[in-house]
Amino acid sequence: MKLGVFVVDFDVEFLLELGIEGLILPFETHEHILKEAEKDFEIFLEFRPFDGGVIENVFGRKTRIRSLGCASDEGLWKRNFSKLEDVEYEIILDFVRFPSPANGNFFYSCFCEKCHKKARDFGYNLRVIRENVKDYLKTDDLVLLEDWFHFRQNVINEYIDWSELRKAFFFTPSLSFLVGQRYDFNMKCICPMLYPETVGPACIGYELAYMTGTLKHVVLENLGSSGDEVIGTEFKKALKSKAKIEPIIMISDNILRRLEMVKKAKRVFIFAYSNDKKGLFAKIKEF
Ligand SMILES: [Zn+2]
Repeated sequence: MKLGVFVVDFDVEFLLELGIEGLILPFETHEHILKEAEKDFEIFLEFRPFDGGVIENVFGRKTRIRSLGCASDEGLWKRNFSKLEDVEYEIILDFVRFPSPANGNFFYSCFCEKCHKKARDFGYNLRVIRENVKDYLKTDDLVLLEDWFHFRQNVINEYIDWSELRKAFFFTPSLSFLVGQRYDFNMKCICPMLYPETVGPACIGYELAYMTGTLKHVVLENLGSSGDEVIGTEFKKALKSKAKIEPIIMISDNILRRLEMVKKAKRVFIFAYSNDKKGLFAKIKEF
């Protein structure tokens, strides 16, 4: 198994000692740091395709959420994509999705003009979908969200085909349907975010905390297990995809057990290295 880490800062000697071969760095990382890092590591850049846009929720409220602009905004697609022109490193898409339950009322996005047009292209009427989402909020009847979920999946799928960027961080299989992602998209490689924790968006525990009623019930049923166990069960589900699966797991006291659960993967990424976490990362040597 190859090991990669998402890095905030890095200590070359220490990471090489641990057997780390790949580094994921934020897209804005300075050229001189990348040049330095590429001497010893395979480099991946984390790229956020919908960064900088505006979204409108089901109630007509508009906002900017960092990294999560409107996924139907083709102007935004092109503006961000143009940043890749001279980039020579492998790209991993991140935030290639719609908002999640952790975004509260903005989970129920996007209903802007661009989304209305996109919906028409896909044969949906976003006005009808909007009414259905509002009805869902009153009745908790999940069937009312079906077309909305499918519309979101169509948009994300179209972006991936348009950009031809086929390696991405995805929500874990049991949650991916919520944000417009599917494991049967035409991907070369999917990096499922297998995070049981409650520390932030995309983490299973955190997203669940924002869910209620039937939605929460269905997701809990999808998951079928809890705590660190979900790393193993969700990894197994992800393996049904035709895409290569390179999971990303979070550093923790239990890192050895976590790595054991995903050891069938050819590559595993660990989130996230910074020099103050050396103690936790040192455990990897025993793997
Ligand atoms: Zn929109």
